[in-house]
Amino acid sequence: MRTLAFGYSTRCNIKCDHCVAADGGEPEKMELGQAKELIAEMAEARVQGISFTAGEPLIYLDDMGELVALCHELGLYTRVVTNSFWAKTPDRADNIIVFLKQMGLSQLRLSYSRWHQKNVLRQNIVNGAESCQRNGLDYFISFVTDFSAADDEYEQFLRDHKLRFFPEPVIFSGRAKGFERLPLRTDYQANCCPMNPYLAPNLDLFACCDAGSHFSRTNFFHLGNAGESSLDALFNRSETNPLYNYIRTVGISTLASFAGFTAREIVQYRKCELCEKLFNSPELLGLLEKESAAGLKNCRR
Ligand code: SF4
Ligand code: SF4
Repeated sequence: MRTLAFGYSTRCNIKCDHCVAADGGEPEKMELGQAKELIAEMAEARVQGISFTAGEPLIYLDDMGELVALCHELGLYTRVVTNSFWAKTPDRADNIIVFLKQMGLSQLRLSYSRWHQKNVLRQNIVNGAESCQRNGLDYFISFVTDFSAADDEYEQFLRDHKLRFFPEPVIFSGRAKGFERLPLRTDYQANCCPMNPYLAPNLDLFACCDAGSHFSRTNFFHLGNAGESSLDALFNRSETNPLYNYIRTVGISTLASFAGFTAREIVQYRKCELCEKLFNSPELLGLLEKESAAGLKNCRR
């Protein structure tokens, strides 16, 4: 199924210490008309779901309303990812949620973490989520964590309020690149990645919407620019790239093992870190591209 993370703008009204979207440059924004044309093209290219993300989409509430309404008209599933700055009281939360629901939004995703909550009160998350419950809009809370004990009380807060949440590992990219890494305690795992594409405000399309769009040494996940190539062609490029498909199906650990990483080393990396080690290195990337073109016969079970 074709889905896409839509970066309408990288502007945000807060500055989280862990932000992946922040790359130190000036915020960028798409033109509204251009965004509408792209959404129409996406529908023709059989894209079925769009997640509005990047900076804070609801800074541009009216524009978001128009884009969500267009998606609804074209039969596309929509999600908006927000930091909930607008949900200061239950009444204010209701105003926004009722509006988004009327525009046809399918789901709201509320970002929550000890970094977000330095800037936005935790009560905003409760107000936003409870407004979704009251007004019949599907929602979930994305609880971003580095799995440290400091996050226990944040998780307990969500449990105490009986809110629907899912933990998501912090990605050590963007502003979080220098964060201290706690030792991981997981088993040797495949590290397969579904790879959701990301459309940036300058119309560059990447095969990965997280750390991979910042692999500047190789630009491995850059598919092209939607102003120069059709979205259908760019999606095809993502779907037919043999190495991307091995990342999706065989997993990054097997590729790392083939590239010479010891098993002990592999279990020490988070998925995106291991991905960066392999695919942001021109030497290792060259090796793996050659092997994947040959059908991965030397590293597949
Ligand atoms: S709310 Fe999201 S986009 Fe804004 S600074 Fe925090 S992590 Fe980045
Ligand atoms: S594992 Fe790689 S492809 Fe997947 S989200 Fe992380 S950086 Fe992107």
